[in-house]
Amino acid sequence: MAETQAELERLASTDPLTGCINRRAMEALLRNEYERFQRYQAPFTVAILDYDHFKLINDHYGHEAGDEALRTFARLSQQVFRVTDCVARWGGEEFLVLMPNTQRGEAEPALQRLRQVLNQTGVHYRGHDLSVTVSIGARQCDELLAWDRLVNQADQALYYAKETGRDRLVFFQDIP
Ligand code: GH3
Ligand code: MG
Ligand code: MG
Repeated sequence: MAETQAELERLASTDPLTGCINRRAMEALLRNEYERFQRYQAPFTVAILDYDHFKLINDHYGHEAGDEALRTFARLSQQVFRVTDCVARWGGEEFLVLMPNTQRGEAEPALQRLRQVLNQTGVHYRGHDLSVTVSIGARQCDELLAWDRLVNQADQALYYAKETGRDRLVFFQDIP
């Protein structure tokens, strides 16, 4: 019975397609991380990663290919990030990465590496090798900022990365 309860809880916090935690579960982690910052000033970094021109994958190869691209992202991010980093499926083709105890200097190379690994690996679907890229917006928490504002600023950085050519990482602090 206890196992069933645990299994139900796991299912309620997991995205079935990718196996990542879902948005609801990530919001709880973000709230918790914000409180840790309030109490201990433990810096952390939040990044939102969004596939570029994802619609084209669906349009050219079908929805199943798009789904495979999402699973590929989840698999590669597990290889690249630390076990203490958390990756959530944040929306359709968007993922959010929470990197506790991580300042920009350490977050940046890890995020760039994921971008490169995804570029190099591509998505394999029914004999096709699809080239894919992601844009990334990031924000280091270095001041008392409510978690939802922090995510909003990472989102603004993502928007700027899209506007300025895609396939790149932008930190909120670098938006001119
Ligand atoms: P941009 O580079 O500006 O991000 O362009 P985009 O095409 O990636 O962005 P847009 O937001 O216009 O389209 C996202 C698409 O992702 C639309 C939606 O149909 C697709 N999508 C959302 N969730 C899923 C999913 O679970 N599976 C698949 N295959 N596609 C999905
Ligand atoms: Mg997109
Ligand atoms: Mg999107």
